[in-house]
Amino acid sequence: MLICEHCATSYTTETPRWRCDCGGTLKLEISACFDIAAFQERAMNLWRYVEALPVPAADAVSLGEGLTPLLPLTGPWGNAHFKLDFMMPTGSFKDRGSAVMISQLKRWGLTEIIEDSSGNAGASIAAYSARANIDAHIFIPASTSVSKAMQIALYGAKPTKISGTREDTIAAALEAAQSIFYASHSWSPYFIHGVKTLAFELWEQLNFRAPDAVIVPVGNGSLVLGCHTGFRELLHAGLIERLPRIIAVQAARCAPLARAWQQWMNDPVPVNKETSIADGIAIATPVRGRAVLAAVRETNGLFVTVEENEILEGLKALASAGLYVEPTSAVAPAALAKLRAEGGLGANDTVVVELTGSGLKTTDKLIEFFES
Ligand SMILES: [Zn+2]
Repeated sequence: MLICEHCATSYTTETPRWRCDCGGTLKLEISACFDIAAFQERAMNLWRYVEALPVPAADAVSLGEGLTPLLPLTGPWGNAHFKLDFMMPTGSFKDRGSAVMISQLKRWGLTEIIEDSSGNAGASIAAYSARANIDAHIFIPASTSVSKAMQIALYGAKPTKISGTREDTIAAALEAAQSIFYASHSWSPYFIHGVKTLAFELWEQLNFRAPDAVIVPVGNGSLVLGCHTGFRELLHAGLIERLPRIIAVQAARCAPLARAWQQWMNDPVPVNKETSIADGIAIATPVRGRAVLAAVRETNGLFVTVEENEILEGLKALASAGLYVEPTSAVAPAALAKLRAEGGLGANDTVVVELTGSGLKTTDKLIEFFES
């Protein structure tokens, strides 16, 4: 059942729909089951948790995504487990959401879709569309890294570069979505049900225990909502005792959710967005912002902002440990280092840092940055 988060109207999952007639975002409610003995016998990908997914295994459009390594590492951030989600088929965690969302779009019989993205989600949706024989039109800002634009084009999708801000790209996609289905990673509730597999994997990899805290970068907030949904389902099934704290990180230069958090607001606040090297989370108007703030609050979590120099320090610290990620990913270890310095987390807490995207996809941006 698809339910509007604004007016509570419900819709069947039998026909294609991406938002409520009132314009509200949709939530997908399913009853998730966990058959531990069964899934441990299955292939090492996220479809092992199929009883907790909204799509049957037989309809899965898969590139073998999921079950990425969980690596313990000590550094300026103290001790933490790093989830290497940049080792996904297209080089970003978005493959979790795309695999489940595109599987559902294929079940709906769609053959043509539109998406807008700062790069990673576009590349991911382009790849899964190729796998599903769906024509994808991907709208990206003209400033998107050359590597991501090339990746989208090579998957056979049609990248359309939009000049101006990320918000201009969203507006152009919404206009085009009047005639073609809008397969938006920020609107689709199926995308969140794919991202929630991150929670299941962390639970399994930590010997069927939840961590104390999970630190994630936040733009539209699909990682917050995915972790919240996944851990809540585990809690509801009696498989964990409490929700881990979700620590949501934004770049100080574009922090509509973190500013709202500081001001005790329930909705994202308007911000004067400045260019950030963490371009993957530079979203001024997150469509599910209210739900993201509520999810962090429910877990007794918090929001943290990091400055550009802190992001670069995080990036270099990860690289010196052997991990080459994109700057957007580096906000999470940067925030952890800050929290540990301020005593915001216990030294013995089990903390997971989500590493979202590969550095190989932003090398052109890094060269620009370090040579300027
Ligand atoms: Zn509605």
